[in-house]
Amino acid sequence: MPTVREIEQALFQLAPKEGAMDWDNVGQLLGDPAAEVSSVLVALDITEAVADEAMAQGCQLIVSHHPVMNCKWLPVQTVRRDTPQGHLLLKILKNDLSAICMHTNLDVAPGGVNDALAAALGLEDPGPLGDPEGLCRMGTLASPMPLQDFAKHVCRCLKANGVRYAGDSGPVQKIAVGGGACGDYESYAIAAGCDVFVTSDLSYHQFLDAAGKGIRLIDAGHFPTEDPVCAVLAAYLRKTFPELTVSKSASHREVIQYYTET
Ligand SMILES: [Zn+2]
Repeated sequence: MPTVREIEQALFQLAPKEGAMDWDNVGQLLGDPAAEVSSVLVALDITEAVADEAMAQGCQLIVSHHPVMNCKWLPVQTVRRDTPQGHLLLKILKNDLSAICMHTNLDVAPGGVNDALAAALGLEDPGPLGDPEGLCRMGTLASPMPLQDFAKHVCRCLKANGVRYAGDSGPVQKIAVGGGACGDYESYAIAAGCDVFVTSDLSYHQFLDAAGKGIRLIDAGHFPTEDPVCAVLAAYLRKTFPELTVSKSASHREVIQYYTET
């Protein structure tokens, strides 16, 4: 059976560490590098439910996209049972679980988060959008469709609970995508002549200003735009280590609900 270290090395073949942004925290973050692994759980985030699921399945390792600790939005100063994060970290460590996180290095990797998103939407000829970090992708639909139909297509392809969108209702065909919070890359979608930009975590003002800038926006949610990469990670681990049992989390799903009157 492979060790955690060997699995980390294999994942860095898929998504090289050098691709990660300087504020990020990627690779093995918790556990024993020398521990042998027979069973892995893959999830977008490591939550309490994901850790419980890993233990229930007898996994020794959780592989996630978002870092479980110490990146820009999740600094760790203490590990105490009376804080939510400390409770989770102690649970993982006391149960001899390890955690490997592949974040912005997987966003930019060929076949990573953004290629998985483009594939999930059925975009043809996917390629780089031209942003300096190499995060976003663009591609085309086989045939143009009205914005509202495309919004429905995005919602269904990504199994989202709903999408927020704005812009001219006319047909779209050239599509830019940025999984997760990529709203700051909108200008590259405009420069590339894309009809619409699919991303997440957009603000009211970004929607308000989009029409004047000549771009249409679809916010399909952070989880739905990034979760397609979990299937990529699981397939890669199964192919690289055929002796491993690899499953994708069943407990972790979109938490955001939408209520509409119509
Ligand atoms: Zn993300």
